[in-house]
Amino acid sequence: MRDETKCLHSGYKPGNAEPRVLPIVQSTTYAYDTAEEIAKVFDDPTLSLVYSRFGNPTVMAVEDKIADLEGGVGAMCTSSGQAATLLSILNLCGAGDHIVSLSAIYGGTINLLSVTLKRLGIDVSFVSGDDTDAQIEAAFTDRTRLVFGETIANPALSVLDIERFARIAHAHGVPLIVDNTFATPVFCKPIGFGADIVVHSTTKYMDGHALQNGGVIVDGGTFDWNNGKFPELTEPDESYHGISYTKAYGRAAYIIRARMNLMRDFGVYPAAHSAFLLNLGLETLPVRMRQYHENGMRVARYLETQEKVESIKWPALPTDKDYALYQKYLKGCCAVISFDIAGGREKAMAFLDALKLASNEVHVADIRTCILHPASSTHRQCTPEQLKAAGIDEGLVRLSVGLENVEDILADLQQAFDVI
Ligand SMILES: *Cc1c(COP(=O)(O)O)cnc(C)c1O
Repeated sequence: MRDETKCLHSGYKPGNAEPRVLPIVQSTTYAYDTAEEIAKVFDDPTLSLVYSRFGNPTVMAVEDKIADLEGGVGAMCTSSGQAATLLSILNLCGAGDHIVSLSAIYGGTINLLSVTLKRLGIDVSFVSGDDTDAQIEAAFTDRTRLVFGETIANPALSVLDIERFARIAHAHGVPLIVDNTFATPVFCKPIGFGADIVVHSTTKYMDGHALQNGGVIVDGGTFDWNNGKFPELTEPDESYHGISYTKAYGRAAYIIRARMNLMRDFGVYPAAHSAFLLNLGLETLPVRMRQYHENGMRVARYLETQEKVESIKWPALPTDKDYALYQKYLKGCCAVISFDIAGGREKAMAFLDALKLASNEVHVADIRTCILHPASSTHRQCTPEQLKAAGIDEGLVRLSVGLENVEDILADLQQAFDVI
């Protein structure tokens, strides 16, 4: 099946006279006829369901759909994108271990890696996509356990050279984890380019309607964990009666351990109703992404003609620094566009205030057009030097183009430029 068909039919197939639409199974637990049958499920939790902290039929249908879209062997949903990133890392790292990460990533992930995980004893080295292979290789230690990056970075909008970073990670015996939130599997399937694990904030385009937070981890099933670096996957797990995940579950070892071990202990599983809403978003994802690309292109072309716009970052523009990477890895672009307004902070904030259709909000990928001024909001605590290092100018605005008629979006932008 192609993506449009998978989005509508993967994960849930009604049996005879069953509901056509994915049902919401609102239950914490599952009843069994005998104690012996429950005991069997504890021996192998992949056999059936016992408790909705590990699995729920509504959520699992959505997990199967996303795994199918990304070309993975399995997926696990989480209650937020942050939870997905956290568990994807903790499934491989403990105190003393080390991560190599691209520096152009989501601010929340930078904080997770450089502050919170550091306090837990997991160290991080940041590298840039502009670094040479030798510079990137120099960041690895014998305790490095993974490489982390984003397909299209939020908010830098740079494009990850997935094949290059997969090659470097694999040469050091570790997997590449890619946050594919901004691209979605409709525009890029990182596993096909060599990534091993994919994570998403489903809060963004996948849900698409700004209804609920969520995340997902997808296991490509591609990485061979039997190289001595990942005993938590290959050696007996004493907290699970001595199971070896690679021996018991083969290519799905990573995602099954994430569920049996980490979801058991951290409990960040989404509610059935949230998964139902996410599924509604997924059903129309390919249609919406095509329209986002089209609206984004019209707005980016319009911004190019604006005197008050000093620079634009959107990788689908042929003048963009990452256009070659965009052409190689992406079939379209998300509709988040960053641009600099001449006149710095004051003019940028006045521009936001003058907009009538676009709303000021701390979100991207809302179905409605929204806009944010990072220097006065998400990066408010930064000094001018820190802003510069993060690539955020005082006049930078992050516009998330929505699915209104693009003529109305353009008219709103034009009247705001006229005001300033
Ligand atoms: C929003 C976002 C996250 C965090 O997701 P939440 O659902 O807000 O926890 C992670 N990565 C990227 C790229 C994001 O845009």
